[in-house]
Amino acid sequence: MLVDCHAHLDFEEFEKDFPGFIRRQEESGVKAIIANGVNPESNKKVLVLAEQYKIIKPALGAYPTDMLKLNSQEYPGALKFIEKNKDKIVAIGEVGLDFSEQTSDNDINKSIQIFRDILRLVKKIGKPVIIHSRKAEEKVFEILEHERMDETKKVVLHCFCGKKKLVRLGKERGYYFTVPTNIGRNQQTRMIAEIIPLSHVLTETDSPYLHPDKTKFPNEPRNVAVTIKELAIIKKMDAEEVSQNVFMNYQRLFL
Ligand SMILES: [Zn+2]
Repeated sequence: MLVDCHAHLDFEEFEKDFPGFIRRQEESGVKAIIANGVNPESNKKVLVLAEQYKIIKPALGAYPTDMLKLNSQEYPGALKFIEKNKDKIVAIGEVGLDFSEQTSDNDINKSIQIFRDILRLVKKIGKPVIIHSRKAEEKVFEILEHERMDETKKVVLHCFCGKKKLVRLGKERGYYFTVPTNIGRNQQTRMIAEIIPLSHVLTETDSPYLHPDKTKFPNEPRNVAVTIKELAIIKKMDAEEVSQNVFMNYQRLFL
């Protein structure tokens, strides 16, 4: 009983033999894959895929660096599209802040405003939010507090790279953390798995990225089995029990 709460199924890496790709996931015990859109074009593709395959659950997103490329008409349109499809989706994501490549203060301020707009939309439609926060972890926490997102109890931090102190604060605030498939080779991921109680852990692949084997690409949702195995060791539990708990978390939060 496996679930991948964060994958990019609309990316070109999966275009070749998509039905075969989906079959492989199903045969490996994957019950649900949350396909995260990143921009208007990708959001449309995610909705189409979710209509075609029951295993795919759609999340519509607004990836920070993609949003900066939209003009003043495209941007409101992108948010309206998400709102219009609110009954079809299980979450809003992937959204967030990314300061890794931005240099100008103007871009930073713009991204912050966009993130705030999105969080207000999240509260308006009442869905969970899946957040990316590269090199902007403290700012993300500050904004989440300012927008009173704790009250929603539906905040998911995906692939979180912030310090231990922030992970502990996230635990206190009741955030969910995804544990990606790079857990075997990534100390940060292991730290999250150790600190966050199993009731707030979700599995993800970020496919096509973060393959358990660094030399391989693309990653696939069925590799969440690797995360389950590692989680079982860290939590000193049976793998089957871990996967049931994670699946329950997925159901409670998204369905
Ligand atoms: Zn992603």
